[in-house]
Amino acid sequence: MRSLDAFACGKLAALDGARLRRTPVVTVRDGIFAERGGRILLSFSCNDYLNLSRHPEVIKAAVAAAQRYGVGAGASRLVTGNHPLYDELETRLARLKGTAAACVFGSGYLANTGIIPALVGADDLILVDELSHACVHAGAKLSGAAVCRYRHCDMADAEALLTANRAKHQRALIATDGVFSMDGDLAPLADLSTLAQRFDAWLLADDAHGLGVIGGGRGSSFANSAAVDVPLQMGTLSKAVGAYGGYLCASQPVVDLMRTRARTFIYSTGLPPPVVGAAIAALDIIECDPAYTALPLRKAKLFARALNLPDPQSAIVPLVLRETETVLAAAQALEEDGFLVVPIRPPTVPKGTARLRFAFTAQHPDAEIERLAATVRRRVSEALAP
Ligand SMILES: *Cc1c(COP(=O)(O)O)cnc(C)c1O
Repeated sequence: MRSLDAFACGKLAALDGARLRRTPVVTVRDGIFAERGGRILLSFSCNDYLNLSRHPEVIKAAVAAAQRYGVGAGASRLVTGNHPLYDELETRLARLKGTAAACVFGSGYLANTGIIPALVGADDLILVDELSHACVHAGAKLSGAAVCRYRHCDMADAEALLTANRAKHQRALIATDGVFSMDGDLAPLADLSTLAQRFDAWLLADDAHGLGVIGGGRGSSFANSAAVDVPLQMGTLSKAVGAYGGYLCASQPVVDLMRTRARTFIYSTGLPPPVVGAAIAALDIIECDPAYTALPLRKAKLFARALNLPDPQSAIVPLVLRETETVLAAAQALEEDGFLVVPIRPPTVPKGTARLRFAFTAQHPDAEIERLAATVRRRVSEALAP
């Protein structure tokens, strides 16, 4: 066997041994349903919180954009890939977030790995919440700055790290998820904003799971009545917006800098026009119908209350079962009863915190949520039994 294949086989065998190997399963989604291996399951694992990926107006906009501009952008946005729909999308994003400007990237992952290294480098400091998304950590690492991870949402820890390290560095950035993707809790953005200002650090919030769901659809900086001052508001168009792409909403000079300096913006092809057209139509719905955007959180609360879990702050409800084996058995049991709840295990979450992650969408019927809660109560305790 070639050494390359021997290497891959060795890695895979180790993952199999720990039950950590993952493979993409063919899934045909249709609204809240997902068909896998010929079975139709009610899915609680999609981040399509407002079910906009199948919304007739959104699909219509995608088709119209494909017909007008084609299916691919053909080049980077700095070359010829900047089709006219981009301007419209960026204007709407900035308006929704209350910033002077916005910049769209190829994906949320590309946004964070482009934004962070364009702002800080070898002389600088980054503080990252330990449970932030993998692409926040990747952007921080790629920047070459000194990275300090602070304990999850622990303001005293973040303050101590800034006190000890801030003066040694020129610039400083604090990066956090607005809504934590595997826990569903909100970052203390108001406290982080105060802390950032005290230490002259720039605050970046990744609102992948907040846009369209929290704060009347405007995101986690708008969770409370007074909007929090977050100068770098990034997020994705692939979750509640139902399409694809990433964005940064910020001041005009920061956005101008991204457009000429963020490497993932410069050296990657522009988004397909149908995707941009779809995102515009989806943002229209989010802007015009805040009552609709409140539904995923209401559904999550219904589920949590039925199981006596703490009140969720977002559309995500985790049930931490700790061991990988237990989570796999619990997910299997739910699947037998017609529910798709994809098990979440390391390295997506820290070791010993494997979990079921339930994601609620506007269109999940209340009765099905009650049935899910009853099934979890019954089947998960079976999976927990020795
Ligand atoms: C999903 C996610 C991303 C990545 O966004 P994509 O557009 O899917 O690349 C970034 N940050 C967080 C918190 C996420 O949950």
